[in-house]
Amino acid sequence: MNDASNENADRQRFADRDDRITRLTQLSRAFTYAGSLTEILQHAAEQTADLLDADKAILMLADEEGLLRVHASFGVPDDIVTRFRASFDESLANRLQGLFGTAEGFLGVPLVVRGEVIGLLAVMRRPGAEISSEDEWLLSALADQMAAPLENAQLAAKVQRAALLVENARLYEAEREARREAEAARAEAERQRMEAEAANRAKSEFIANMSHELRTPLNAIAGYVELLEMGLRGGVTDAQREDLRRIGQNQRVLLRLINDVLNFAKLEAGHVEFDLSNVPVDESLAAMEALVMPQLLARSLHYEYTPVDPRLTVHADREKLEQIVLNLLANAVKYTAAGGNIYLSATEAGAWVSIHVRDTGRGIAAEKLERIFAPFVRIDTGYSRATEGTGLGLAISRDLARAMGGDLTVESVVGSGSTFTLRLPKGRS
Ligand code: ADP
Repeated sequence: MNDASNENADRQRFADRDDRITRLTQLSRAFTYAGSLTEILQHAAEQTADLLDADKAILMLADEEGLLRVHASFGVPDDIVTRFRASFDESLANRLQGLFGTAEGFLGVPLVVRGEVIGLLAVMRRPGAEISSEDEWLLSALADQMAAPLENAQLAAKVQRAALLVENARLYEAEREARREAEAARAEAERQRMEAEAANRAKSEFIANMSHELRTPLNAIAGYVELLEMGLRGGVTDAQREDLRRIGQNQRVLLRLINDVLNFAKLEAGHVEFDLSNVPVDESLAAMEALVMPQLLARSLHYEYTPVDPRLTVHADREKLEQIVLNLLANAVKYTAAGGNIYLSATEAGAWVSIHVRDTGRGIAAEKLERIFAPFVRIDTGYSRATEGTGLGLAISRDLARAMGGDLTVESVVGSGSTFTLRLPKGRS
């Protein structure tokens, strides 16, 4: 080799060296900007292989027990990394040999931080490529540059893991607390529901008992009024007779009121029994006219019943069915001015039979339609004799209808009239 070529070779070596040092500096900067530990490690393995012209590179870090584990690699197939990553029973030399496939051309340096070995950086040169002292120097320089950012990243990862654990524990505790609170709220709601139910039952039982106590003296009043009217206690003047009539009339109003309250309380307390059977609709409805005839005549109302197929039946308690229809007819009479019409009819659809009570009375305002079914609700403002009542009739009727599996609804137009519809299940075959 002549001088000139020696010089050239020297210049080339220096140029290579310069280039490597530049890349080394760049690499150290890249470490500072890399985000996660995995990113830093992978970057380090790749750059090491590149800088040292190596086929393969691996980076191992000591775990908590001081065992070296592969954390990043370059040029080593994944399955081999997996196989040698955690095979603790093999010595480090064996594992490196396994990872690289051979022990030749191997160069490795420890990663040291504050005098402590935290890992190992190793490369495998191409077959035949020599390992120079400069390569060793370069790898050591790389290892030195990597160690500090690696440790930082490792610490950061540890802190992150710890923070995650703390956050998990906090979430778990918060969830347990929320569950405890939900359970307590549910238990409290249940306690309140039971209390309310018990209070309601006690109230209904009290009303039922009171109503019974009130009826006895009222019956006595009626008896004595009759005695006096019949002249059994001596002669009665016309004025006295008029007073007795009023006493009798008020006694009947009071008795009806008490009966309504008693019936409603019984229904609420669940004390009403239903004797369900197939009830012939036509038979029950046809009998209604006779029951309302006196009121119809007194108010000059026109009444019309449209007969239905005599074979049509509903599955109901006959007495309760007739009680509901009678109540609807009585209301129609009460709330329809003299000369108006009242119609009774029934239709069937599917598994249901609907009984309609229609009047041409004053009707009910749309916003009040639902309220009239609530107990003690009366829409009337002026309390005249023509519209006596307790506001319980419809509440009782709807409760009865529902208890028999049906319902009671209303449609109405103010000034034109109302149609109440009692829906009941068809009779069973
Ligand atoms: P009561 O008739 O004893 O007041 P109800 O529960 O039977 O009680 O009826 C509640 C209210 O519904 C009545 O006060 C009345 O205002 C209204 N109402 C019921 N039936 C009719 C009807 N056919 N036409 C107009 N209003 C009615």
